[in-house]
Amino acid sequence: MRRRAVFLDRDGTINEDPGYLCSPKLLRIYPAARRGLKLLANNNFLLFVVTNQSGLGRGYFTVEELAAVHLKLEAELRRDGITLDEIVYCPHHPDDDCDCRKPSPYLVLELAGRYEVDCHSSFFVGDKLVDILTGYNSGCRSVLLALPEEVEELRRMKDWREPDYIAEDLYQAALWITKTE
Ligand SMILES: [Mg+2]
Ligand SMILES: [Zn+2]
Repeated sequence: MRRRAVFLDRDGTINEDPGYLCSPKLLRIYPAARRGLKLLANNNFLLFVVTNQSGLGRGYFTVEELAAVHLKLEAELRRDGITLDEIVYCPHHPDDDCDCRKPSPYLVLELAGRYEVDCHSSFFVGDKLVDILTGYNSGCRSVLLALPEEVEELRRMKDWREPDYIAEDLYQAALWITKTE
């Protein structure tokens, strides 16, 4: 049987987004994200982080620095009993015109193929329109993390698509996901 997964954006979804997070010292995981990830893990969802890291393509940080951030993220979550199945990222500059930068479904579909994930019963969770679109493009349900006043602003964007659900944080999102067939 194919498995269900939750694909997660990183910055602004799991951890605070300081802009081009380049050091483990700057990593701040939201408490609600820890609780949400724990709930999803307890419900047997595979957990993947899918993130655009154009800071690499822009030369703002190195692959080694990014790896150090991800080691810290995995170690902190493991302390809460949460295992991330894999973290994947697009390293390219937006001008590179690559195949993998969100909202391309490339990274999601690649993971889905390797882990035998059923995208139609899986979810993409993120805090930006690009995340909603990545969910749509890969055949997953899309969950937006945003406060009500932020949603109004997002709805005025020209490529706007309504997500399947809007939650204020990852814990609220996880409560909805675990109740959804
Ligand atoms: Mg984000
Ligand atoms: Zn890319």
